[in-house]
Amino acid sequence: MSKKLNEARINEFIEVIMNVAMGDYSVQLKISEENNYFDALAMGINMMVDDIRKSHETELENDRITILNTELRKAKEQAEESDRLKSAFLANMSHEIRTPMNGILGFADLLKEPELSVVERQEYIGIIEKSGLRMLNIINDLIDISKIESGQMEILNSDINVNQQIEYIFNFFKPEVEKKGMQIFFEIGLPSEKAFIRTDREKLYAILTNLVKNAIKYSDSGSIEIGYTVKDKYLEFYVIDAGIGIPHNKKEIIFDRFIQADISDKRAFQGAGLGLAISKSYVEMLGGKIWVESDEGIGSSFHFTIPYLSDQGEKTVIEKINSDIVIEQPVKKLKILIAEDDENSEMLLTLIVKEYCKEDFHARTGREAVEVCRQHPDIDLILMDIQMPEMNGYYATREIRKFNEKVVIIAQTAYALKDDREKAIESGCNDYISKPISQAVLQDLVNKHFNK
Ligand code: ADP
Repeated sequence: MSKKLNEARINEFIEVIMNVAMGDYSVQLKISEENNYFDALAMGINMMVDDIRKSHETELENDRITILNTELRKAKEQAEESDRLKSAFLANMSHEIRTPMNGILGFADLLKEPELSVVERQEYIGIIEKSGLRMLNIINDLIDISKIESGQMEILNSDINVNQQIEYIFNFFKPEVEKKGMQIFFEIGLPSEKAFIRTDREKLYAILTNLVKNAIKYSDSGSIEIGYTVKDKYLEFYVIDAGIGIPHNKKEIIFDRFIQADISDKRAFQGAGLGLAISKSYVEMLGGKIWVESDEGIGSSFHFTIPYLSDQGEKTVIEKINSDIVIEQPVKKLKILIAEDDENSEMLLTLIVKEYCKEDFHARTGREAVEVCRQHPDIDLILMDIQMPEMNGYYATREIRKFNEKVVIIAQTAYALKDDREKAIESGCNDYISKPISQAVLQDLVNKHFNK
């Protein structure tokens, strides 16, 4: 073999070895027909490259298996955790719903006792009322979290005075705090004429209420402080308590839904673990952040921010305050049509409106409501249930509007969905009230429409 040919083969060898060194294990050397030393060497190198490729493939396969195993382990842990949370949630929910039901049904049963004193009767009624409200809170929380998760929760911005909100919350919770032998203080960070922000009043109110309720629930002594300070373009609100505090490793997850810092301790405190999850979602919807600083056994301070633009314009406080005041005066006696298919709800409404009702009419379906209204054009007010058989309340309202423009129609629904109000107004209702119907809220609406 010539020197030139030898060189060419050596170059082939070098190229293959370089390729292998670079991680390309697919290369192979050519074997000539001559069966010389070079061919023997080439065969040896090819076998070695084969071996390296196989062991590399095994290595890759092992890596893939390790990754798969880690992912499987993680998925298993997540499934176990979600199973644990689901069971804890179910147990907690069952407890949270059964406990007030126990109060309602148990004391309603006891009320049947003819020998009860007036004081006992009042006490039992008080318990039924409180249990009903507790149940309603849970249902509202569940509806709110479902609305948030399905993207149905909307922001309704208006100009609000934050000082008024803080003072309102302070005054609202003061008696409850003092009943526990504690004190509550508040601090405002801006003079009232500068304390206007454009935000969703109900959401801000819900966040503050949740935090203050928790501060009261999770502390037995010391004081509670609420307030806000101005930080750059944000208002930073805080609720501080000297209560049981939160374990270090739970500070993040308590903002997740259904999570309580100590699930085994849940019997000691009422709650479904939804308040903070709802608050966090609301804060984020309003453009801020929420966090907690806490030491176990010492207390917790919850903080959240909301955007504040100082040039939002000073407003006349008096004007704002006045616009919120509802003047309560007795309305003239009204002719009222109660359109409601549920017997108990109908009876309740009849009793609630008794004070300002001159004559009451009743309808169990939308069609009946339209007929009654046609026969009695002097009816002043219709309390229109939305979900009725044969013809629903929206449809009935549209029919009524074809021949009666002036009757005041207040829709009443138990759906509590985001477009309830819009749908009611669109179909021709003047206003909307959600069930359970509060006597005071209905009275306010009636005042609004008949005490102009
Ligand atoms: P709930 O109070 O209904 O359990 P939340 O979502 O409001 O639900 O709170 C979640 C958990 O965070 C509570 O169960 C409690 O363990 C913890 N937590 C919230 N606020 C406080 C507080 N002020 N002090 C101590 N722990 C708190």
